[in-house]
Amino acid sequence: MLSELNNFLEFSIHNQTAFAPFSININKQLKAVGNAVGVIEFVPFQSQAEQRKSKSIVLSCGVHGNETAPIELLNNMITDIINADLEVQHNVLFIIGNLPSISGETRFVEENLNRLFHYDAKNDTLEARRANELMQIVSAFFERKTKERLHYDLHTAIRPSKNEKFAVYPFIFGKPYDKRQLAFLSACDINTILLSQAPTGTFSCYSSSQHNAHSFTMELGKVMPFGENDMKKFLAIDKTLRNLISAQDVRLPKYEECPLEIYNVNQTIIKQQEDFALHFDADAPNFTAFPKGSVLASETQHVYHAQIDGEAIVFPNADVPIGQRALLTVVPYEI
Ligand SMILES: [Zn+2]
Repeated sequence: MLSELNNFLEFSIHNQTAFAPFSININKQLKAVGNAVGVIEFVPFQSQAEQRKSKSIVLSCGVHGNETAPIELLNNMITDIINADLEVQHNVLFIIGNLPSISGETRFVEENLNRLFHYDAKNDTLEARRANELMQIVSAFFERKTKERLHYDLHTAIRPSKNEKFAVYPFIFGKPYDKRQLAFLSACDINTILLSQAPTGTFSCYSSSQHNAHSFTMELGKVMPFGENDMKKFLAIDKTLRNLISAQDVRLPKYEECPLEIYNVNQTIIKQQEDFALHFDADAPNFTAFPKGSVLASETQHVYHAQIDGEAIVFPNADVPIGQRALLTVVPYEI
Protein backbone atom coordinates (compact mmCIF):
# COMPACT_ATOMS: atom_id res chain seq x y z
CA MET A 1 0.00 0.00 0.00
CA LEU A 2 2.73 2.46 1.00
CA SER A 3 4.53 1.93 -2.31
CA GLU A 4 1.32 2.74 -4.21
CA LEU A 5 1.31 6.16 -2.53
CA ASN A 6 4.75 6.84 -3.97
CA ASN A 7 3.07 8.53 -6.89
CA PHE A 8 -0.03 9.92 -5.20
CA LEU A 9 -1.33 11.61 -8.36
CA GLU A 10 -1.24 8.36 -10.32
CA PHE A 11 -2.72 6.43 -7.37
CA SER A 12 -5.58 8.97 -7.15
CA ILE A 13 -6.32 8.94 -10.87
CA HIS A 14 -6.42 5.11 -10.91
CA ASN A 15 -8.71 4.97 -7.87
CA GLN A 16 -11.22 7.62 -8.91
CA THR A 17 -14.15 5.21 -9.12
CA ALA A 18 -13.07 2.60 -6.57
CA PHE A 19 -11.60 4.62 -3.74
CA ALA A 20 -11.21 2.97 -0.33
CA PRO A 21 -10.29 5.06 2.75
CA PHE A 22 -6.90 4.22 4.27
CA SER A 23 -4.77 4.90 7.32
CA ILE A 24 -1.15 3.71 7.31
CA ASN A 25 1.80 4.28 9.61
CA ILE A 26 4.72 5.59 7.59
CA ASN A 27 7.10 5.27 10.53
CA LYS A 28 7.06 5.77 14.30
CA GLN A 29 6.57 9.51 13.90
CA LEU A 30 3.94 9.78 11.20
CA LYS A 31 0.81 8.28 9.70
CA ALA A 32 -0.95 8.93 6.38
CA VAL A 33 -4.75 9.07 6.24
CA GLY A 34 -6.95 9.19 3.14
CA ASN A 35 -10.67 9.88 3.55
CA ALA A 36 -11.49 10.87 -0.02
CA VAL A 37 -9.94 10.37 -3.41
CA GLY A 38 -7.14 12.83 -4.17
CA VAL A 39 -6.79 13.80 -0.53
CA ILE A 40 -4.02 12.70 1.85
CA GLU A 41 -3.45 13.87 5.40
CA PHE A 42 -0.18 13.46 7.28
CA VAL A 43 -0.58 13.27 11.02
CA PRO A 44 2.50 13.33 13.24
CA PHE A 45 2.18 11.29 16.45
CA GLN A 46 2.15 14.11 19.01
CA SER A 47 1.11 14.71 22.59
CA GLN A 48 -1.76 17.17 23.01
CA ALA A 49 0.72 19.78 24.22
CA GLU A 50 2.86 19.30 21.10
CA GLN A 51 -0.22 19.45 18.91
CA ARG A 52 -1.27 22.78 20.42
CA LYS A 53 2.10 24.21 19.40
CA SER A 54 1.92 22.87 15.85
CA LYS A 55 0.11 24.11 12.73
CA SER A 56 -2.72 22.82 10.58
CA ILE A 57 -1.62 23.28 6.98
CA VAL A 58 -3.75 22.70 3.88
CA LEU A 59 -1.91 22.59 0.54
CA SER A 60 -4.17 22.25 -2.47
CA CYS A 61 -3.61 22.07 -6.22
CA GLY A 62 -5.47 20.97 -9.34
CA VAL A 63 -8.66 22.87 -8.49
CA HIS A 64 -8.31 23.69 -12.19
CA GLY A 65 -7.29 20.45 -13.89
CA ASN A 66 -4.96 21.88 -16.52
CA GLU A 67 -2.81 23.80 -14.01
CA THR A 68 -0.14 21.15 -13.84
CA ALA A 69 2.95 22.74 -12.24
CA PRO A 70 1.50 22.93 -8.71
CA ILE A 71 0.27 19.35 -9.03
CA GLU A 72 3.79 18.19 -9.88
CA LEU A 73 5.19 20.28 -7.02
CA LEU A 74 2.88 18.88 -4.34
CA ASN A 75 2.98 15.33 -5.73
CA ASN A 76 6.79 15.36 -5.37
CA MET A 77 6.46 16.60 -1.79
CA ILE A 78 4.07 13.77 -0.97
CA THR A 79 6.53 11.24 -2.46
CA ASP A 80 9.34 12.62 -0.31
CA ILE A 81 7.17 12.44 2.82
CA ILE A 82 6.16 8.82 2.07
CA ASN A 83 9.85 7.94 1.63
CA ALA A 84 10.75 9.80 4.84
CA ASP A 85 12.96 12.21 2.87
CA LEU A 86 10.87 15.15 4.07
CA GLU A 87 10.08 15.43 7.78
CA VAL A 88 6.59 16.47 8.87
CA GLN A 89 6.21 18.44 12.10
CA HIS A 90 2.67 19.65 11.57
CA ASN A 91 -0.69 18.33 10.46
CA VAL A 92 -0.65 18.64 6.71
CA LEU A 93 -3.57 18.02 4.35
CA PHE A 94 -2.74 17.69 0.65
CA ILE A 95 -5.61 18.05 -1.81
CA ILE A 96 -5.68 17.40 -5.55
CA GLY A 97 -8.86 19.26 -6.42
CA ASN A 98 -10.38 18.12 -9.68
CA LEU A 99 -9.13 14.67 -10.77
CA PRO A 100 -11.55 14.12 -13.70
CA SER A 101 -10.47 17.42 -15.24
CA ILE A 102 -6.79 16.51 -14.69
CA SER A 103 -7.38 13.24 -16.60
CA GLY A 104 -9.19 15.21 -19.31
CA GLU A 105 -6.50 17.95 -19.39
CA THR A 106 -9.18 20.61 -19.04
CA ARG A 107 -9.78 23.49 -16.64
CA PHE A 108 -13.02 21.85 -15.43
CA VAL A 109 -15.55 19.22 -16.52
CA GLU A 110 -18.94 20.90 -15.97
CA GLU A 111 -18.25 24.20 -14.21
CA ASN A 112 -15.49 26.20 -12.55
CA LEU A 113 -14.78 24.47 -9.21
CA ASN A 114 -13.18 27.58 -7.74
CA ARG A 115 -16.52 29.43 -7.66
CA LEU A 116 -18.33 26.75 -5.63
CA PHE A 117 -16.82 26.80 -2.16
CA HIS A 118 -19.91 28.10 -0.38
CA TYR A 119 -22.66 26.10 1.25
CA ASP A 120 -25.40 27.18 -1.13
CA ALA A 121 -23.73 25.61 -4.18
CA LYS A 122 -26.61 23.26 -4.86
CA ASN A 123 -25.98 22.56 -8.55
CA ASP A 124 -25.80 18.83 -9.19
CA THR A 125 -22.55 18.95 -11.13
CA LEU A 126 -19.39 16.97 -10.66
CA GLU A 127 -17.64 20.12 -9.44
CA ALA A 128 -20.40 21.13 -6.98
CA ARG A 129 -20.30 17.65 -5.41
CA ARG A 130 -16.51 17.84 -5.14
CA ALA A 131 -16.64 21.31 -3.57
CA ASN A 132 -19.04 20.00 -0.90
CA GLU A 133 -16.81 17.01 -0.22
CA LEU A 134 -13.68 19.17 0.07
CA MET A 135 -15.40 21.68 2.38
CA GLN A 136 -16.35 18.83 4.74
CA ILE A 137 -12.81 17.46 4.69
CA VAL A 138 -11.24 20.85 5.38
CA SER A 139 -13.76 21.53 8.18
CA ALA A 140 -12.91 18.23 9.86
CA PHE A 141 -9.19 18.90 9.43
CA PHE A 142 -9.40 22.35 11.01
CA GLU A 143 -11.29 21.00 14.05
CA ARG A 144 -7.98 19.87 15.53
CA LYS A 145 -6.71 22.27 18.19
CA THR A 146 -3.44 23.68 16.87
CA LYS A 147 -1.66 27.02 17.06
CA GLU A 148 -2.40 28.23 13.55
CA ARG A 149 -4.51 27.34 10.51
CA LEU A 150 -3.02 27.85 7.05
CA HIS A 151 -4.26 27.15 3.54
CA TYR A 152 -2.30 27.76 0.34
CA ASP A 153 -4.24 26.96 -2.85
CA LEU A 154 -1.80 26.67 -5.76
CA HIS A 155 -2.77 27.66 -9.30
CA THR A 156 -1.24 28.80 -12.55
CA ALA A 157 -2.80 31.55 -14.68
CA ILE A 158 -4.36 31.08 -18.11
CA ARG A 159 -2.43 33.98 -19.61
CA PRO A 160 1.07 35.33 -19.05
CA SER A 161 1.38 37.99 -16.40
CA LYS A 162 3.56 41.09 -16.15
CA ASN A 163 3.96 40.04 -12.54
CA GLU A 164 4.38 36.36 -13.23
CA LYS A 165 3.59 35.11 -9.74
CA PHE A 166 0.91 36.68 -7.61
CA ALA A 167 -1.37 35.83 -4.72
CA VAL A 168 -4.99 36.71 -4.01
CA TYR A 169 -5.63 37.69 -0.39
CA PRO A 170 -9.28 36.80 0.26
CA PHE A 171 -11.64 39.40 1.77
CA ILE A 172 -11.00 39.38 5.53
CA PHE A 173 -13.90 41.54 6.68
CA GLY A 174 -11.84 44.54 7.83
CA LYS A 175 -9.35 42.53 9.90
CA PRO A 176 -5.72 43.70 9.57
CA TYR A 177 -3.63 42.14 6.81
CA ASP A 178 -1.05 39.74 8.24
CA LYS A 179 2.45 41.02 7.45
CA ARG A 180 4.09 37.72 8.44
CA GLN A 181 1.96 36.00 5.84
CA LEU A 182 2.93 38.61 3.25
CA ALA A 183 6.61 38.01 4.11
CA PHE A 184 5.94 34.28 3.74
CA LEU A 185 4.54 34.88 0.24
CA SER A 186 7.60 36.97 -0.59
CA ALA A 187 9.83 34.09 0.58
CA CYS A 188 7.88 31.95 -1.93
CA ASP A 189 8.93 34.47 -4.62
CA ILE A 190 5.39 35.85 -4.77
CA ASN A 191 5.69 39.62 -4.50
CA THR A 192 2.47 40.79 -6.11
CA ILE A 193 -0.57 40.69 -3.85
CA LEU A 194 -4.14 41.33 -4.83
CA LEU A 195 -6.47 42.28 -1.99
CA SER A 196 -9.98 40.96 -2.58
CA GLN A 197 -12.73 43.38 -1.55
CA ALA A 198 -15.68 40.98 -1.24
CA PRO A 199 -16.22 37.35 -0.25
CA THR A 200 -16.18 34.93 -3.20
CA GLY A 201 -16.65 31.20 -3.78
CA THR A 202 -12.94 30.40 -3.98
CA PHE A 203 -11.35 27.63 -1.95
CA SER A 204 -9.02 30.07 -0.18
CA CYS A 205 -11.90 32.41 0.70
CA TYR A 206 -13.77 29.47 2.22
CA SER A 207 -10.88 28.56 4.58
CA SER A 208 -10.36 32.18 5.49
CA SER A 209 -13.98 33.15 6.12
CA GLN A 210 -15.28 29.88 7.63
CA HIS A 211 -12.21 28.69 9.52
CA ASN A 212 -10.27 31.86 10.21
CA ALA A 213 -7.25 30.42 8.40
CA HIS A 214 -4.51 32.49 6.83
CA SER A 215 -5.37 31.53 3.31
CA PHE A 216 -4.27 32.55 -0.18
CA THR A 217 -4.79 31.67 -3.82
CA MET A 218 -1.27 31.51 -5.27
CA GLU A 219 -0.84 32.02 -9.01
CA LEU A 220 2.54 30.67 -10.07
CA GLY A 221 2.82 31.50 -13.78
CA LYS A 222 1.35 30.40 -17.09
CA VAL A 223 -0.41 27.06 -17.67
CA MET A 224 1.73 24.39 -19.38
CA PRO A 225 1.07 20.68 -20.03
CA PHE A 226 2.55 18.05 -17.66
CA GLY A 227 6.30 17.67 -18.14
CA GLU A 228 6.66 21.05 -19.89
CA ASN A 229 6.84 23.17 -16.75
CA ASP A 230 10.17 24.77 -16.01
CA MET A 231 10.36 23.55 -12.42
CA LYS A 232 13.36 25.84 -11.76
CA LYS A 233 10.83 28.69 -11.60
CA PHE A 234 9.28 27.10 -8.54
CA LEU A 235 12.42 26.53 -6.42
CA ALA A 236 11.60 29.29 -3.92
CA ILE A 237 8.03 28.17 -3.25
CA ASP A 238 9.08 24.52 -3.14
CA LYS A 239 11.78 25.23 -0.57
CA THR A 240 9.57 27.52 1.53
CA LEU A 241 6.62 25.09 1.63
CA ARG A 242 8.97 22.22 2.53
CA ASN A 243 10.35 24.40 5.33
CA LEU A 244 6.85 25.17 6.53
CA ILE A 245 6.06 21.47 6.83
CA SER A 246 9.31 20.31 8.37
CA ALA A 247 10.43 23.14 10.66
CA GLN A 248 8.76 24.31 13.85
CA ASP A 249 8.81 27.86 12.41
CA VAL A 250 9.90 29.26 9.04
CA ARG A 251 12.57 31.98 9.03
CA LEU A 252 11.09 34.88 7.10
CA PRO A 253 12.51 38.04 5.56
CA LYS A 254 11.59 41.31 7.30
CA TYR A 255 8.32 42.63 5.88
CA GLU A 256 9.87 46.06 5.25
CA GLU A 257 12.57 44.43 3.10
CA CYS A 258 10.18 42.42 0.91
CA PRO A 259 9.78 43.82 -2.65
CA LEU A 260 5.99 43.57 -2.43
CA GLU A 261 3.58 45.27 -4.83
CA ILE A 262 0.10 45.36 -3.34
CA TYR A 263 -3.05 46.02 -5.35
CA ASN A 264 -6.63 46.57 -4.39
CA VAL A 265 -9.49 45.35 -6.56
CA ASN A 266 -11.23 48.38 -8.11
CA GLN A 267 -13.85 46.89 -10.46
CA THR A 268 -15.32 43.41 -10.70
CA ILE A 269 -16.91 43.29 -14.15
CA ILE A 270 -19.62 40.69 -14.59
CA LYS A 271 -20.60 39.54 -18.08
CA GLN A 272 -24.27 40.42 -18.58
CA GLN A 273 -24.75 40.04 -22.33
CA GLU A 274 -23.75 37.46 -24.95
CA ASP A 275 -21.87 40.17 -26.89
CA PHE A 276 -19.48 40.99 -24.03
CA ALA A 277 -16.12 41.96 -25.58
CA LEU A 278 -12.74 43.01 -24.22
CA HIS A 279 -11.13 46.10 -25.77
CA PHE A 280 -7.47 45.13 -25.47
CA ASP A 281 -5.25 42.50 -27.07
CA ALA A 282 -6.40 38.96 -26.44
CA ASP A 283 -2.94 38.14 -25.12
CA ALA A 284 -2.44 41.26 -22.96
CA PRO A 285 -0.67 40.07 -19.81
CA ASN A 286 -2.28 40.23 -16.38
CA PHE A 287 -1.45 43.55 -14.61
CA THR A 288 -1.23 45.54 -17.84
CA ALA A 289 -2.10 49.13 -16.80
CA PHE A 290 -4.33 51.61 -18.69
CA PRO A 291 -4.78 55.39 -18.57
CA LYS A 292 -7.94 56.77 -16.97
CA GLY A 293 -10.85 56.73 -19.41
CA SER A 294 -9.61 53.80 -21.57
CA VAL A 295 -12.43 51.52 -22.69
CA LEU A 296 -11.65 48.11 -21.20
CA ALA A 297 -14.76 46.18 -22.20
CA SER A 298 -18.23 46.63 -23.59
CA GLU A 299 -21.52 44.84 -24.12
CA THR A 300 -25.03 45.90 -25.11
CA GLN A 301 -26.02 48.77 -22.78
CA HIS A 302 -22.65 48.87 -20.94
CA VAL A 303 -19.21 50.33 -21.53
CA TYR A 304 -16.52 49.72 -18.91
CA HIS A 305 -13.73 52.30 -18.50
CA ALA A 306 -10.53 52.54 -16.48
CA GLN A 307 -11.64 54.85 -13.65
CA ILE A 308 -8.16 55.67 -12.36
CA ASP A 309 -4.82 56.28 -14.10
CA GLY A 310 -2.78 53.07 -13.97
CA GLU A 311 -5.78 50.82 -13.41
CA ALA A 312 -4.64 47.33 -14.43
CA ILE A 313 -6.46 44.27 -15.74
CA VAL A 314 -6.43 40.82 -14.12
CA PHE A 315 -8.10 37.53 -15.15
CA PRO A 316 -9.80 38.80 -18.33
CA ASN A 317 -11.98 36.10 -19.89
CA ALA A 318 -14.81 37.07 -22.25
CA ASP A 319 -15.82 33.40 -22.65
CA VAL A 320 -17.31 32.93 -19.17
CA PRO A 321 -21.07 32.23 -18.89
CA ILE A 322 -23.40 35.21 -18.37
CA GLY A 323 -23.49 36.21 -14.71
CA GLN A 324 -19.84 35.34 -14.09
CA ARG A 325 -16.81 37.57 -13.70
CA ALA A 326 -15.20 38.42 -17.02
CA LEU A 327 -12.62 40.93 -15.76
CA LEU A 328 -11.11 42.33 -12.59
CA THR A 329 -9.35 45.67 -12.43
CA VAL A 330 -6.84 46.60 -9.74
CA VAL A 331 -5.00 49.69 -8.52
CA PRO A 332 -1.83 50.00 -6.40
CA TYR A 333 -2.49 50.13 -2.66
CA GLU A 334 -0.47 50.73 0.52
CA ILE A 335 -1.38 48.66 3.55
ZN1 LIG B 1 -6.60 28.13 -11.37
